[in-house]
Amino acid sequence: MPNPLSSPNPCLSCGACCACFRVSFYWGETDAAPGGYVPTELTQPISPHRSAMKGTDQPKPRCCALQGVVGQTVLCSIHPQRPSPCREFNASWEAGEPNEACDRARRHYGLAPLAPIKAGTHSEI
Ligand code: SF4
Ligand code: SF4
Repeated sequence: MPNPLSSPNPCLSCGACCACFRVSFYWGETDAAPGGYVPTELTQPISPHRSAMKGTDQPKPRCCALQGVVGQTVLCSIHPQRPSPCREFNASWEAGEPNEACDRARRHYGLAPLAPIKAGTHSEI
């Protein structure tokens, strides 16, 4: 989920990507490692060198840090400490192009893909 402070932000009424995919990353991003910042208690090891956000490594994923109702009002409770996959995941058109994974996650929850109206804004089609 991208930065909720950007406005208007479609992610605050979505959250689909936080409840669709396994969110995995190098374990050194956790605060168990020097310089790490992701709260370790919200993660689980999935291999010797990788961790995942709890709740995302299961058939029906939902990140344990996601608050609210997908498709209504949501918030990432650890937004400043979210791992790199979340930081690097753009909402469709946030970076000027569609993101197939964003579109797919939204469709999974019956939400229309985002479409651009004009630079810097989003809307639903
Ligand atoms: S699926 Fe797309 S619009 Fe929804 S929260 Fe994730 S990035 Fe934002
Ligand atoms: S850490 Fe935050 S942004 Fe990342 S999947 Fe979990 S709720 Fe979403």
